[in-house]
Amino acid sequence: MARGRLRAWFQRCQRELPWRRTRDPWAIWVSEVMCQQTRVDSAIPYYERFMRLYPTTADLAAAPVDELLSLWSGLGYYSRARNLHRAATQVMRDHGGRIPCTESEFRALPGVGAYTAGAVLSIAFEQPVPAVDGNVRRVLSRLEDLAAPTNRQLTVIADSWIDRRAPGEWTQALMELGALLCKPIAPECDACPLREECRARRHGTVAERPEPRRPPKVKEVHLWAFWDETAAGLVLERRPDQGIWGGLWMVPLLARESAAAPFDPRRAAAAGISLQCAAQPLPAVIHLLTHRRILLHPLRVRLAQPWPAEWERVSGEALSRRGTPTSLARIGRAAKAQMDREWLAAPQEKSVG
Ligand code: SF4
Repeated sequence: MARGRLRAWFQRCQRELPWRRTRDPWAIWVSEVMCQQTRVDSAIPYYERFMRLYPTTADLAAAPVDELLSLWSGLGYYSRARNLHRAATQVMRDHGGRIPCTESEFRALPGVGAYTAGAVLSIAFEQPVPAVDGNVRRVLSRLEDLAAPTNRQLTVIADSWIDRRAPGEWTQALMELGALLCKPIAPECDACPLREECRARRHGTVAERPEPRRPPKVKEVHLWAFWDETAAGLVLERRPDQGIWGGLWMVPLLARESAAAPFDPRRAAAAGISLQCAAQPLPAVIHLLTHRRILLHPLRVRLAQPWPAEWERVSGEALSRRGTPTSLARIGRAAKAQMDREWLAAPQEKSVG
């Protein structure tokens, strides 16, 4: 009964989303990866561009990682893109281009965890594998009136609720219920198809379920960012795969002890960074991650040669084909504004006519 009501509600009320028009496992996989840590509205234009460029795993496997990172620029959490690329390559190499439909094989692919496996296997392959994301966690905690269920508990509960005749629709319906009605604040219980089964509603504990997770400790990180731009382009380095902006192109960075620590040329030189003339500071740029608050302290500089081998001066045209973080564009806007001010302040040649 409850399952039938939830499915009927979903068929009536679901949002029109591009990945709801397909059962193609690749399209569903991509949508699930993009929607983790990104709001659905923000993910849609990226998803549509991605599927136009890489409609199959073969298309992505054949593409340069730089091209993918450039498309991903602005979505954040770039390890998702690199893992998807590695997984597509592995599907081509080990599975003849067919996405594996067994849980053990699918979960062996890079970046595929329990949630992604549950979502793709249930939605694309109609397998009764539960998928517990943040929305589903909230719905199940309220249905069962649990304050702080563990992931294992939630998986068992999700498995007991799953509609084995239509697992794909069930998975999507539960997520949609969490997104549209069973919201963190002011859930719309009167319109909910599961209101009769909901224990938290019966007990008057909806507002306390589930208890909020303890927020992660946020560490502050300060970095110097060296902006060296000439008519020939901007000096960039490819970030190491592990760590912030992994695999993306960024201006050279150097750790700064604190927001007040002065620039230390000797420390910079030890890291291969020497300046030809005095640096001009630009306004700080803040980049927030789940566990870190990164403060970039940009300096407009002219870097002395020789640079470390992995740096390149990249022209504006080539830059558009590289994956770069949005923070780079923000520093660029500040640098341009400073150059415009300098140009306006400089004595201008008077035209004689
Ligand atoms: S009745 Fe309210 S709290 Fe319970 S599942 Fe429905 S929307 Fe969520």
